[in-house]
Amino acid sequence: MNKIQIEDNFFLYQFPEFPKMHFGVNLYVLIHQNEALLIDTAFETETKTVIKDLEKNNIKVKKVILSHFHGDHITGLRELSDVEVYGSKNGQKTLDKYTPRDEHHLYLPHFYTEDFSVIHFGEFELQFIAAPGHSDCSINIIINRQYLLVGDNIMTSNDGTPLLPSVLYSNVKNHILALEKLKKYKNYKILPAHGIILRDADIILTSIKNRITYLNNIIVNREYITVDEALKNCQCNFLHQQWHEDVYKE
Ligand SMILES: [Zn+2]
Repeated sequence: MNKIQIEDNFFLYQFPEFPKMHFGVNLYVLIHQNEALLIDTAFETETKTVIKDLEKNNIKVKKVILSHFHGDHITGLRELSDVEVYGSKNGQKTLDKYTPRDEHHLYLPHFYTEDFSVIHFGEFELQFIAAPGHSDCSINIIINRQYLLVGDNIMTSNDGTPLLPSVLYSNVKNHILALEKLKKYKNYKILPAHGIILRDADIILTSIKNRITYLNNIIVNREYITVDEALKNCQCNFLHQQWHEDVYKE
């Protein structure tokens, strides 16, 4: 695990890539006195690692915000008790698809991340923006008007190579819209839930453009197209192209 200090009281715990995958997972942690706010939890192992590291300084996790409700973002909640959980009201839709019903109660949020609503935690202001695309319940989080956490709407490997967007066909148009909306944050630092922080406006715009090109090719063709056809005119080599077949699995 690589612990990166983003600024005072703001850390990224970046975990190594999973075997045979091209990505690891990121947990972002904000600190206020002896309390922590986590953005996403990854799986139990990663949450335990973060809890242990925070305990060294007597810091306890008090709040969790979920960027969306896929297993690699929520499962660590099992390791946390007495925490306030924030997430999209569409989280239930995602749980219905991927999580056994008898486990839903472990992940349901106490507070909904209403569009444009703001919470404060110590010196941090966090604003929630609905960003359905990668999933129905995806949100972006603006932190101190400098950072934009994008969950899985932009993903890279841990060395910064782009990952193919992961999306179901019914959400491709939403994903394009979510990416279009990101353009206005090109001067922010983009925090993905998998991969590296993007800090350069040109790189951010190129990352958005290539993903939109791929998604547009899917929409324009209406019927199934191969990954090579869908990648036409993309100016980068996406990793994890096997996700392309999942687009049509509905
Ligand atoms: Zn993910």
